[in-house]
Amino acid sequence: MKKLVILSGAGMSAESGIRTFREAGGLWEEYDVTEVASPMGWAKDRELVLRFYNERRRQLETCKPNAGHYGVAALEKYFDVHVITQNIDNLHERAGSTRVLHLHGELTKARSVAHPELIYDIGYKDIKIGDTCEKGAQLRPHIVWFGEAVPMMDEAMRISSTADIFVVIGSSLNVYPAAGLIEYAPPGASLWLIDPNEVYVPARLNVEVIREKASAGVEILTKRLLHSEGKC
Ligand code: NAD
Repeated sequence: MKKLVILSGAGMSAESGIRTFREAGGLWEEYDVTEVASPMGWAKDRELVLRFYNERRRQLETCKPNAGHYGVAALEKYFDVHVITQNIDNLHERAGSTRVLHLHGELTKARSVAHPELIYDIGYKDIKIGDTCEKGAQLRPHIVWFGEAVPMMDEAMRISSTADIFVVIGSSLNVYPAAGLIEYAPPGASLWLIDPNEVYVPARLNVEVIREKASAGVEILTKRLLHSEGKC
């Protein structure tokens, strides 16, 4: 089976009602990123940071995967699919994808500020000041904030470097190091990008662009891949 690597970003979940970050109406217009998604913000106002992520978590509980998530999961019938997502939601898993690597953490987990190896599944519950790990340290969202290292990056590079097919869905490719992963795909891999808006990728990479939203785009991608693989 060919290895199909999907790099998904905020646009993947837009049709599920979760706002992207950078577009007009995106989350960052309402919040200052340095206040809610950085170690500095946490040091300054932990209540605000917890409230921001508690709101995101409550919203996630009411959202459902969209046809794009389901389409990605269905590709497992034909390909060895590995999803690398920049999203902190759990919509790929809820749609049925079985191999999902979260580069930027997960909303439904909390971790200890003093013992980062202590990570807890919290589902859709709030994290409050005074919620602690078993060693007594405060819990924080299990999110990679701006300015923090990306611990899953090595694994993501390893997966990307063995892709036969590499597909970017709904990412402005602005947030590094994730945006650089497409460069790790081997020279012979076929590269695809699904996004309704223009996204800059170097011309030398020869990326096939499907200018559609995730749901329609994944349907088109699936047809084209199955056709070129002689599977339909
Ligand atoms: P981004 O906001 O920078 O870019 C979103 C991209 O999605 C844009 O290129 C936009 O044109 C495209 N898009 C918008 N609607 C779409 C649709 N219906 N279908 C397909 N594409 C669509 O997002 P990013 O590149 O992922 O980087 C932002 C960071 O924000 C990431 O690190 C991610 O962790 C975080 N984030 C996560 C979520 C989530 O978990 N769902 C939501 C917002 C932001």
